[in-house]
Amino acid sequence: MRIFAPSETDSTERRVPLVPASVTKLAALGAEIEVKAGLGKTASFSDEEYETAGAKIVVDRAQSFAAADIVLRVRKPAAADIAALKRGCIHVSFLDPFTDVVTVKNLAAAGVSAICMEMIPRSTIAQKMDALSSQASLAGYVAVLLGANRLDRIFPMMMTPAGTIPPAKVFIIGVGVAGLQAIATAKRLGAVVEAFDTRPEVEEQVKSLGGKFVKVELGDTGQTAQGYAKELTPEQLAKQREVMEQRCAQADLVITTAQVFGRKAPLILTNAVVEKMKPGSIVVDMAVESGGNVECSRPDEEVIVNGVKVLGYRNLAGRVPRAASAMYSSNLTNLVDHFWNRETKTFRLDPANEILRDCLVTHGGSIINEHIRTLAQ
Ligand code: NAD
Repeated sequence: MRIFAPSETDSTERRVPLVPASVTKLAALGAEIEVKAGLGKTASFSDEEYETAGAKIVVDRAQSFAAADIVLRVRKPAAADIAALKRGCIHVSFLDPFTDVVTVKNLAAAGVSAICMEMIPRSTIAQKMDALSSQASLAGYVAVLLGANRLDRIFPMMMTPAGTIPPAKVFIIGVGVAGLQAIATAKRLGAVVEAFDTRPEVEEQVKSLGGKFVKVELGDTGQTAQGYAKELTPEQLAKQREVMEQRCAQADLVITTAQVFGRKAPLILTNAVVEKMKPGSIVVDMAVESGGNVECSRPDEEVIVNGVKVLGYRNLAGRVPRAASAMYSSNLTNLVDHFWNRETKTFRLDPANEILRDCLVTHGGSIINEHIRTLAQ
């Protein structure tokens, strides 16, 4: 089988889908690997490294798309790229399926079997392919460093002959994968950390990282079978906002990571809350791409409200492209390896498989994921 890793068409994306170490693993399975010339440049991998690992460097993108049995990439394909794909090929990438059903429809119409990385189940068996987690972890780390960089004070307590500086106070809203990494990173830098999540079971995880869990009596909040938070009622959200306002007023850095899978992110910090924060403090809205947890945040902008800087940068994992590419490439390679038939040297594409039934969204000319098919109607 021929696997092709194209370079991204979005010039702001610095992550790449395959790193040389993964090429070695895929070549050992008996796959033929083609990578676009210059693929690894943005993540500091040279063509020579890919070649040494066993890849063929190609320059004709259209030709490689037409010949590939499997395409591995970071972002969803543009319409022109979908048109260039071979009917029946397997395409693996993020797809943004909840906001862009047109791309999914185009993939189905082109007869492509599209595996959507956002839909990999959060199960133990699929953990090694879970790119949402690998990228969220890095994003949580980057969010803290971005905030620390903009802050006009330091994170750790310092006791010197010139006086004592108290530690910075960091408040994390949403303790999923990104939030946990943000807590760990802020603690390592010496901050005092508080965190809140609507799933009360994360209290223990917050404490084990040295953070304080902020309790809000919201009644039944619940979670889905996959472990995702459920959407709060308007009354619950109003109650949450009250407590968030008090904690934010005390904080030097607030990082919001709250997401509800498949839906717009909940609006948690209204302008009124940000206006009551201390001048000089920072808010990093990690949910800006899915609608934002902060009313005034804007994608890829820094907005200043009453001296409070609100940072809304997208694709935070893309700011550490070498690490993010290594992790994402491992996720993709683990996926191919998991479904590889070592005798026939082919990918076993069984739509009924416990992993593929969630993440294989188009197959045989149709949208086969029920949730996305409903959105597409
Ligand atoms: P996510 O990105 O969907 O959401 C981030 C966090 O926001 C979640 O913890 C969620 O509870 C929280 N949230 C939602 N609404 C909120 C609100 N109004 N206020 C505050 N917080 C709010 O989550 P994620 O990081 O993708 O993790 C989702 C779940 O999957 C977690 O339970 C995680 O432990 C689990 N998980 C399991 C595995 C595995 O078993 N393989 C792997 C990764 C994650």
